[in-house]
Amino acid sequence: MSVTFAVAGAGHDVERVPCTFGEGEEWACSPDARCGYCDNGLEERHVPRAPEVNMANVSAAAVLDVLGETSEPFGEWPLAQLPALRRRIVRALSTNQLAQHEQAAYAHGGPGTGHARVVFAGMDEARLSRRLRDLDTVLAAAQAAQASVVWG
Ligand SMILES: [Zn+2]
Repeated sequence: MSVTFAVAGAGHDVERVPCTFGEGEEWACSPDARCGYCDNGLEERHVPRAPEVNMANVSAAAVLDVLGETSEPFGEWPLAQLPALRRRIVRALSTNQLAQHEQAAYAHGGPGTGHARVVFAGMDEARLSRRLRDLDTVLAAAQAAQASVVWG
C-alpha cells in the first residue's frame, strides 16, 4: 500500500537501539521484565545509508503524474535520467502546476480506465510539494552516489 523511492544499492545499516516496547507504560520492557521481542533490551533498527522516501500509493501516483511518468507500482530511473527529473520537480514547484495534478490524481483510474478509481485522501498541493521535495533529496543523493533510483 506504499511505495519507497530509494538510491539503488545503497542498502541499510543495522543499528542496535534500546528496546522501546511499551515505552511509558507500567508494563514496558525493562531490565527486570523483558518484553520477549528484543535481545536483552536491544532491538535492531534498519537505517537506510542514503535518503529514501516512502509514500502512500496515491501520493506516489500523483508525484509520478507531476513528473510526466506513467504510474507503475515499481520501476527504476537510470542516473542519466535524473537531471531531467530534477528539472521537472523544480519547474513544478516554481510554477502553478500542482493544483492541476491534484485534479489529475483525483481522476486517476475509474470507469473505462481499467483501473480502480483512486479515492484521493489528504493529498493537497502543500503535501504534494513536500513529497516532491523529499523525492528531490533522494534524486540528489543518487546523483552524488552515481546511482540510479528505484521505487516499489
Ligand atoms: Zn524489549
